Amino acid sequence: MKDATELAIPSMRAPKVLVMPKLRLIATSDLHIHVRPYDYFRDEPDGTVGLAALAPLIERARSEAPGALLFDNGDFLQGSPLGDVAAADFTSGAPGPHPMITAMNLLGCDAGAIGNHEFNYGLAFLDHCLRQAAFPIVCANLRRVDGAHFVEPWSILEHAVTDADGSSLPLRVGVIGFVPPQVMQWDSVHLDGHVLAEDIVEAARREVPLLRAAGADIVVALCHSGIVNGAYRPGQENAAAALAEVDGVDALVAGHQHLRFPGAAEFDGIAGVDNVNGTLSGKPAIMPCCFGMAIGVLDLDLARDETGWRIVSSTSSLRFTTDAESEQNEPDAAVMTATRACHKRTLDYVRETVGETDTPIHSYFALLGDNAAMEIVAQAQLDEARMLLAQAGLSDHPPLLSAAAPFKAGGRGGPLYYSDITAGPLTMRDLANLYLYPNTVCVVRVSGRAAREWLERSAGIFNRIKPGAAGPQRLVRQDFPSYHFDVIFGLDYLIDLSSPARHDRDGVLVAPQGRRIVDLRHEGRPVRDEDEFLVATNNYRAGGGGTFFAPGEPEIVASSTDLVRDVVTRYVARAAAKVGRIEPRPRRNWRFAPFAEGANVIFHTGPGAEGREPADLAIERIGPDADGFLAYRLRP
Ligand code: MN
Ligand code: MG
Repeated sequence: MKDATELAIPSMRAPKVLVMPKLRLIATSDLHIHVRPYDYFRDEPDGTVGLAALAPLIERARSEAPGALLFDNGDFLQGSPLGDVAAADFTSGAPGPHPMITAMNLLGCDAGAIGNHEFNYGLAFLDHCLRQAAFPIVCANLRRVDGAHFVEPWSILEHAVTDADGSSLPLRVGVIGFVPPQVMQWDSVHLDGHVLAEDIVEAARREVPLLRAAGADIVVALCHSGIVNGAYRPGQENAAAALAEVDGVDALVAGHQHLRFPGAAEFDGIAGVDNVNGTLSGKPAIMPCCFGMAIGVLDLDLARDETGWRIVSSTSSLRFTTDAESEQNEPDAAVMTATRACHKRTLDYVRETVGETDTPIHSYFALLGDNAAMEIVAQAQLDEARMLLAQAGLSDHPPLLSAAAPFKAGGRGGPLYYSDITAGPLTMRDLANLYLYPNTVCVVRVSGRAAREWLERSAGIFNRIKPGAAGPQRLVRQDFPSYHFDVIFGLDYLIDLSSPARHDRDGVLVAPQGRRIVDLRHEGRPVRDEDEFLVATNNYRAGGGGTFFAPGEPEIVASSTDLVRDVVTRYVARAAAKVGRIEPRPRRNWRFAPFAEGANVIFHTGPGAEGREPADLAIERIGPDADGFLAYRLRP
């Protein structure tokens, strides 16, 4: 028979687990002001999106796991005309309760993070919105220039969990936020001289121990940043995988990429990333898509022993508004009531007629050089730039060009994600479809060399067309956002796809020998490296968004505080007053250099392109593909 001392030995080897309660975290990310189930760009209800549509899913997830916490992971202020109307209220001196913050308060959000788009309307507006939140909004890698944290870096939620025997145990949940440091480029107009950003991992290594020392039992990172492969580079935009390796971080909500984790194919095969069970370096993690299409549900099995709390196992899953059990759901009544007035004013705003167009404007063939949609934006930017230069007393300047990209051109947005405006009256909704982002106009000075690099970076949207390759070759890279395909109006050029792309999709120079932009001309004369141009573009690009320029470039010569969309509205309204309408015509300032003999090049566009093929494009229809896109073959 063994004595009591011997019996005690096993528990000394493995510390005795006292309790194993569960904690459920519910997360949204990248809501982009999708409060109500409504698509303002189409001006019709859309039951698949919106925080109000998610509310029943949140309620059910809570009822299954009492004591669940609700987190939002940032990018909640911007992304639809509703956000523009709310911001315009503030600018015009009539700020009301912000519809998204109101909804989050009503649903009992426990904590939130700052996303990069929170800065789009400026700091005064953001501060105004943050003051309305009844829950902490945290960010650990941003400071005001006086050294103070931009908002509190982290917060401790005094929570409780229930033990298996029903007793309640206090649990202090630490919540810490992170935002891509690239906000300094993307919103330099608003942030320069006011805010400083820090590397995400560096900030975590400093702040997480402080959060632990302040008493957090577990630490949840609200990481408005995504998951990518490869060795970590300081300052990296998508840092969630590296953040998971930081000691003291227990669980993560990722975002910014608008994808689902676990599950999206983009995350397959990345070292340390379990894309089935939803862990990063073994730590529970989730990315709940975007626009209020889904909630992420992170179930944690906790254990407490002599050393404190830890997570012993977890389940990560997503629940969508489109799931069968969600179909009968009604949007949350309290949110719908509280946001009705702002919704109504947004409808009035998007339905307002501002001018007229004599031809349909669509982006179905924008990636083949059919530029009419971008031409309107480019012309409007030129008008604004001339006005800005005159105001600045810069009448004697280098040639003025204008850069614009097709914002809606399929890709990840799907086969319906195109601008498509019928001839006739133009409403604000139409213009919002042409120009999605709350950017402002900037005029930059670039050399001929930099202008060429700008176009090389843009031309990375195309796959290399290999001579003699057997079988069809896809023209457009699906993972390359079309907002990085800038066309510079005022220059003429060919794009030669026999050359590799100089840059990858993030703007990193990967093929220094690559030269796709050939026969680059300005008013018929070849562009030399030492030439100088001014280019009207937006604050995002001018600030370095997309990495189109060398460090320190480009020089910003003038900038407007008006949104590009408002500038486009003025342009259309002026044309209406002068000649009754705008007459958008594709300018065809670029073409592909002839493809190699026998190359079978396939272009995919939306099904709405059917029968609207521009006469001067040498293409033949193949038919719909499995993803719902319409395929064309480019004739040599
Ligand atoms: Mn986002
Ligand atoms: Mg984001």
